Amino acid sequence: MRGMDAPIFNTIIEPFRIHSVEPLRMTTPEQRKTAIATAGYNLFKVNAQDVLIDLLTDSGTGAMSRDQWAAIQHGDESYAGSPSFFIFRDAVRELFPFDHVLPTHQGRAAEKIIFSVLGGAGKVIPNNTHFDTTRANVEASGATAVDLVIAEGRDPQAVHPFKGNMDIEALESLLRERADDVPVVFITITNNSGGGQPVSLANLHAVRDVCDKYGKMLFLDACRFAENAWFIHEREAGHGDRDVADIVREIASLADGMTMSAKKDPMGNIGGWLAMNDDDLARDCRNVLILTEGFPTYGGLAGRDLEALAQGLKEVVSHDYLRYRIRSTGYLGDALVKAGVPVLTPIGGHAVYLDARALLPHIPPLEYPGEALAVALYEAGGVRSVEIGTVMFGRQPDGSEVPAALDLVRLAIPRRTYTQSHIDYVIEVCQHVARHAADLRGYRIVDEPPALRHFTATFEPLG
Ligand SMILES: *Cc1c(COP(=O)(O)O)cnc(C)c1O
Repeated sequence: MRGMDAPIFNTIIEPFRIHSVEPLRMTTPEQRKTAIATAGYNLFKVNAQDVLIDLLTDSGTGAMSRDQWAAIQHGDESYAGSPSFFIFRDAVRELFPFDHVLPTHQGRAAEKIIFSVLGGAGKVIPNNTHFDTTRANVEASGATAVDLVIAEGRDPQAVHPFKGNMDIEALESLLRERADDVPVVFITITNNSGGGQPVSLANLHAVRDVCDKYGKMLFLDACRFAENAWFIHEREAGHGDRDVADIVREIASLADGMTMSAKKDPMGNIGGWLAMNDDDLARDCRNVLILTEGFPTYGGLAGRDLEALAQGLKEVVSHDYLRYRIRSTGYLGDALVKAGVPVLTPIGGHAVYLDARALLPHIPPLEYPGEALAVALYEAGGVRSVEIGTVMFGRQPDGSEVPAALDLVRLAIPRRTYTQSHIDYVIEVCQHVARHAADLRGYRIVDEPPALRHFTATFEPLG
């Protein structure tokens, strides 16, 4: 290469090659129309074998590595004191050095435990944006969930490098008025329900300062901590030369505890944990853990799961992996922006969010434009997405129904699972549906459960 500049290549290289494959089943549009009608137009009720590209969620759907599968073989299934627990605990503490680490079967179990101890009637839990299960667990305890993301985070087109940031003034004014009712402040990194948008290190420090001023604990909902840390590495001045693991440790140092879904960045198919420093709180939480999940050295998991997660935690902070991860999500988003499909920008870490309200202005929020778009993507191309809008968040605790802040359709990218040609196909499907947007019609709900209705509600097309 003497005499030549160092070459710059633009193709995104997946930093792995394929070791084991799973077949995909092709279906026709007619088959899919039957499948979705049979499912009451709820994509959660469609059988996975009737889906071609499954972007419903990035939760537990990623590909584990060779080394994670090898770690599974290393699992020790002793009921108490399994060495697999200590391997897991040490891997967690390498990044999040909290005194107490309680394994749970997934993230919502950690939420259920912490809010059953800290929540209750009259309590208020602030968060940048509560995820659906987080909000449901806060509300199930009788407490009120309040979302305090910055104004830019509520505007799908606003340009801001850290749209997941907490509104510091709003947090401060809540604490000024109701400090006694707030047992803990939460912050979600990245902000899943707000578009997978990151929170800056400066904002996390500012949240910490407010918590200190009012003597409040700060907990992380840290599901996508590595993606968030990569955005800090890429976007926040002064952090571009740091190791991502080091940024993660700084984030952890600002918090008093965390809830975690290990089905996200820890690259597991199942798992989660609850961690904290406070001994009394840990004792109370451990008592609930034993009642609902399992003995404290396995929680809701098998020894083999704990080992796979320990290995996943080492892999997720790799810069090669994170560069690929964030760029490949951006590749899908940028292509849709270029094609004129309205998407939430900047593109988040784990998903691209289509702005269904903007694409389908003829469908009012209470006729569920996100539902209409998600069904159309499935019928046209077998692509499964999820509505994050009025279906998910419209029903209020008092029984009334109001439009959600945004009507989005999330295309979540499972980790290390689909290739660039799969994503090129998804882009074509989105373009096709966008061209026919004016033909789409709204939906009405036929049947719904009292909470988390999006998982099981059934729908009927209008008109
Ligand atoms: C997935 C998720 C949860 C809940 O975790 P589960 O493992 O699905 O129970 C909580 N918060 C956020 C931000 C999430 O993305």
